[in-house]
Amino acid sequence: MLNRGYYDGFGGAYLPEILVATFDELEKVFLEAKNDPDFWQNYENLMSTYSCRPTPITFAENLSRYFGGPRIYIKREDLNHTGAHKANNVMGQGLLVKRMNKTRVIAETGAGQHGVATATMAAKFGFDCTIYMGEVDVERQRPNVFWMERLGAEVIPVKEGTRILKDAINEAFRDWVTHMDTTHYVLGTACGPHPFPEMVTYFQSIIGKEARKQMMESQGRLPTRIYACVGGGSNALGIFSGFLHDPAVELVGVEAGGKGLDTGEHASRLCSEDAAVGVAQGYKTYFLQNHEGQMKETHSIAAGLDYVGVSPILSHLKETGRVRFEAATDDEVVAATALTIRKEGVIPALESAHAFAQAFREASKLSHDDIILINQSGRGDKDIFTVADAFNDPKWQQFIIEKAKKYHA
Ligand SMILES: *Cc1c(COP(=O)(O)O)cnc(C)c1O
Repeated sequence: MLNRGYYDGFGGAYLPEILVATFDELEKVFLEAKNDPDFWQNYENLMSTYSCRPTPITFAENLSRYFGGPRIYIKREDLNHTGAHKANNVMGQGLLVKRMNKTRVIAETGAGQHGVATATMAAKFGFDCTIYMGEVDVERQRPNVFWMERLGAEVIPVKEGTRILKDAINEAFRDWVTHMDTTHYVLGTACGPHPFPEMVTYFQSIIGKEARKQMMESQGRLPTRIYACVGGGSNALGIFSGFLHDPAVELVGVEAGGKGLDTGEHASRLCSEDAAVGVAQGYKTYFLQNHEGQMKETHSIAAGLDYVGVSPILSHLKETGRVRFEAATDDEVVAATALTIRKEGVIPALESAHAFAQAFREASKLSHDDIILINQSGRGDKDIFTVADAFNDPKWQQFIIEKAKKYHA
C-alpha cells in the first residue's frame, strides 16, 4: 500500500510491518463501504436521528449589519450530539467497526472532546472502549474524564514523554499492535497514516455536501468565501470538500496564531516559519519542528488546535494554492468570541472562533453582493473558565474594545 494515500508527496503510510495487514483490512472495508450505496444512506439516517443532521445554516443578520459588507452565514456543527463536528467522524468509523466485526475501540484524546465522542459512540454501539490521554491533560480536563468513565470507557493516563496528546497517540498505536484482531483505533482527525486522512475527510464531507445544497436552496448561489479553523484539519476538509471544484469559492483555513507567529508560541504549521515537512506518527506532512527534526512545543488558547502535525491533504491544498491559510491570535479569538455571543446569541468554541476572527478581519473589505460562510465546528460551553479568565483581564477588555473599533476602520 506504499504508493497509496499520497497527495503530491504528502501523506502515505509509514508503518511498522506488524500493522500493515490491519491497515490493509481497514482500507479494504472502507473502500467497500464507500462503494456500497446503502452505506452512506445508513450513515445519514444515523446522523439525522442521533446527531441533529442536517445541521442548519444560520443567517448572522446582526453581524452582517455590524460589518456593513457581505452577508454572513454560519454552518452550525455546534448543534451535533456531543457539541462538535467530531460526532460525524466517530459515528462513521463506528459503522465500519461493525462491518469489520470488531468489538473494541481505542482512541487518543487531548482536550477530551474526541474521547467523549468516541466513548459515546462505543456506548451506543456496545463496544468496549479504552481512551488514552496524557497525564497532564487528565488533570486539566476532569469533567471530560468523568463523562468518558460514566459512558463506560476506561481512561488510561499516559505517563510517557511530555504527557500530552502526541504521547497519547503513541500509546494508542502500541495498544493497537497488540490487539489488532478485536480492536479498531478511532483516529480523531484527518491525520495519521493512509487511509485515515481520506476516511475521516469522507465522513466529514457531510458538512460540505449539506452546506452546498443549503446555500443553493436558500441563496440560489454559492458563497464568495468559506472560513474554517484548522487543528488536524477535519472540519475544514469537511466543509471545503463540498466546494473544491468551484474555483469561484475562496477557501480559507485558519490556524492557531497563539501569542503571535513571531513569538514561537503558536500552532501554525501552514503559515509560519517554524514548520517543515517531515515524517512522524506514520505520515508525511508539515510539522512544527526544529532543524534537527525535534518536535516543538505548541500553544493555543484552543486546546483542539494545539497539535504539531496537520492533515497531509491540507498540506497538499496549500501547495496547489486551492486553500489560503491564515492564523488568528488568542487575543483576536477572544474578541471574536465576545462579539459573536453578543451579536448573535451563539457561543462558538474557541477553536471555531479562529474562523470567525479571520472572517471579521476581512469582512469590511467585501461588498454587499458577497456571501461569507463560517464553519462553527463546535459549541463554546466547554470554554467557560478560559473565557471567564479572558473577560476578567483588563488588558483583554481594552483589546476587545479597540478591536471592535478597528473592524470599522
Ligand atoms: C477538535 C476540534 C477542532 C479541531 O479539529 P479539526 O480536525 O481541525 O477539525 C476544531 N473545533 C472543535 C470544536 C473541536 O472540538
